[in-house]
Amino acid sequence: MEIAADRVVLIHYTLKGDDGAVIDSSAGAEPLAYIQGHGNLVLGLEKALEGKQDGDKITVSVAPIDGYGVHNAALIQRVPKRSMQGSGEIKKGMQFQAQTDDGMRLFTVTAVVGDMVTLDGNHPLADKTLNFDVEVVSVRDATAEELEHGHVHGAGGHHH
Ligand code: ZN
Repeated sequence: MEIAADRVVLIHYTLKGDDGAVIDSSAGAEPLAYIQGHGNLVLGLEKALEGKQDGDKITVSVAPIDGYGVHNAALIQRVPKRSMQGSGEIKKGMQFQAQTDDGMRLFTVTAVVGDMVTLDGNHPLADKTLNFDVEVVSVRDATAEELEHGHVHGAGGHHH
């Protein structure tokens, strides 16, 4: 079966940076399950997989614009510690979800100086070209319930 919108796809993948270092991989674990056409994967990878079938292997290089975005200086903010009450002690490397104009976004604390905290809302892989090696494991139609929930049930997906 070909990969098309509203189909459940299981893939094994390895993601490498431009230096060849492995950033993430499903090797040795369950394949990743996602629904095609629902923005579950970065756009460039979803586009490259459209029309592929079980057993196909592809290598694709995804530019930042179709990946995790380009670095945006406006997403770096300095806020006073007191505005982050209830978070306990704030340390470099901590991450917080926060509401923005574009929806929920993950912010990473990149510096704590005196009473000021620097938060960076850029994805850690922003500005990076993503080099994927992907093997399509299986393709099937999504169930009505999966489409309603927006995620895969069963193998590689949600169990609830
Ligand atoms: Zn569900």
